[in-house]
Amino acid sequence: MDYSELFSKRTGLIILHPLLITFVLLTSYPIIYDIPTPFWYIILASFILATIFLLLRNRFIEKTVLYMIFLTDIPIIGFMIHYSGSLESMFPLLYVLLIILSALYLSKKGAYVISLCIVIFFAFLLFIEARDSNYSTQMVMYRFYIFGLLFLFTGILSGALSARYQKGTEEVERLRITTEEIIKNLPSGIITVSDKGIIIYTNIPEGPIRHRVHLYIIKLLKDPNAQISIKLEIAKRYYVLSCARIYDSKVGLGILQDYTEIRKLEEQSRISKQTKLLAELGGSLAHEIRNPLASIRGLLELIREARKNSSTLHFINMALKESTRLNEIVTDFLNFAQFVPVKKNRLSISEIINEALIDIIHRVDSKNIKIVRQDSVFYVLGDLNKLKSCFANILNNACEASQKGQVIKIVSYSNNNEGFVEIRDYGKGILSREIKKIYDPFFTTKKGGTGLGLAIARNILESHGGRIEVKSKIGKGTTFKIVLPLA
Ligand code: ADP
Ligand code: MG
Repeated sequence: MDYSELFSKRTGLIILHPLLITFVLLTSYPIIYDIPTPFWYIILASFILATIFLLLRNRFIEKTVLYMIFLTDIPIIGFMIHYSGSLESMFPLLYVLLIILSALYLSKKGAYVISLCIVIFFAFLLFIEARDSNYSTQMVMYRFYIFGLLFLFTGILSGALSARYQKGTEEVERLRITTEEIIKNLPSGIITVSDKGIIIYTNIPEGPIRHRVHLYIIKLLKDPNAQISIKLEIAKRYYVLSCARIYDSKVGLGILQDYTEIRKLEEQSRISKQTKLLAELGGSLAHEIRNPLASIRGLLELIREARKNSSTLHFINMALKESTRLNEIVTDFLNFAQFVPVKKNRLSISEIINEALIDIIHRVDSKNIKIVRQDSVFYVLGDLNKLKSCFANILNNACEASQKGQVIKIVSYSNNNEGFVEIRDYGKGILSREIKKIYDPFFTTKKGGTGLGLAIARNILESHGGRIEVKSKIGKGTTFKIVLPLA
């Protein structure tokens, strides 16, 4: 059961109503036997009405129900007046109470409407009562003026007061909500701690972060030398806590700011600036190497032809092989260094994966690796050649990390605006201290590796508005997740 509903405005009023009427009527006679029978009817009627209102209360809006209650009260009090001495009855004073209640519950307009209705009904009542009695007309008029004025004034006064009260509470409520909203939606954590160590207010959720901040502010209040601004590292996130001692050092205030993302961005921009510079330098260098290298290779081919039977053939072949490798490195490097804007075509993700697999099929076959695919249908905008080589680089690494006969899984899926491809191998994994470096150009753990594969892959993805993430466990395998915006 919802107790708040039980005590909501109208329900409380509906329940209170018959009880109040019963109380007033029963206490108006000193001996219970003297209570006139009509009073019992009025009590009964008030209980029946209360039951009806309770049943109806959810059918109508709150205001309507309240008006119904107050309006039915007018004739009920009329009956009470009639049976308690008519013109001599003191019960008209109950109307004053009714007007005040209507002002409380229905505010200004309610008080005006109810008091006006009461005045009209009261005039009508006096008219009827006076008819079958022998009071002088003047006496009746006199009563009407006195009570009528009383009702009207009560109505106007209580109406005005309730309007003012309502405005005040609305203002306070608005202020409270605004302040609360602001604090709740603030990107920073706020905490105030008393000198007894009790948290007065905080929007930092329960947990290790709040605990650390709480402890520090206690320390701040005790130790006058404590720094008012410190850096915290909690659960791999970075925070700055700025503090102040307020109210004569009786309260400590802390504002906590998470700057993990800023730190990441700074780090990224530092790396990408370095990489760009390196790429530009290296790019021109690689270009310069390529031409003489081509001549060297051409010359070596000529020498090989001429010295077919010589004992140096073996060395010549070796030189040719090495120059091929050098050429590959230079090509890789140029790929990496070229910041050409990509040609954007609508490509299905399966098409890109197919092309990449063709590129590396010899490696897959030579290690007898099983490719397990789970494709989903989505499209990206991009350059097929570049994306293909990006995927091929990652698949290549996966093959190299895997043992013979192992499985490589390629799973693709998408949400509303991004497509994902996960490439998972069950190979040797990456050491956690190395994982930060794998995208660095020239970082390699392989004999004869260039360390450019992932740097190129990341470059390509970034130039497509995408990104790459990695998860790895030593001995268990590695998963690269490629994220690309959907076409
Ligand atoms: P390379 O393959 O020439 O070494 P990459 O940039 O492609 O250069 O990769 C850099 C390094 O990242 C690799 O030397 C390897 O240590 C690590 N690496 C990349 N992919 C994987 C993988 N799937 N499993 C284990 N290590 C990997
Ligand atoms: Mg590689």
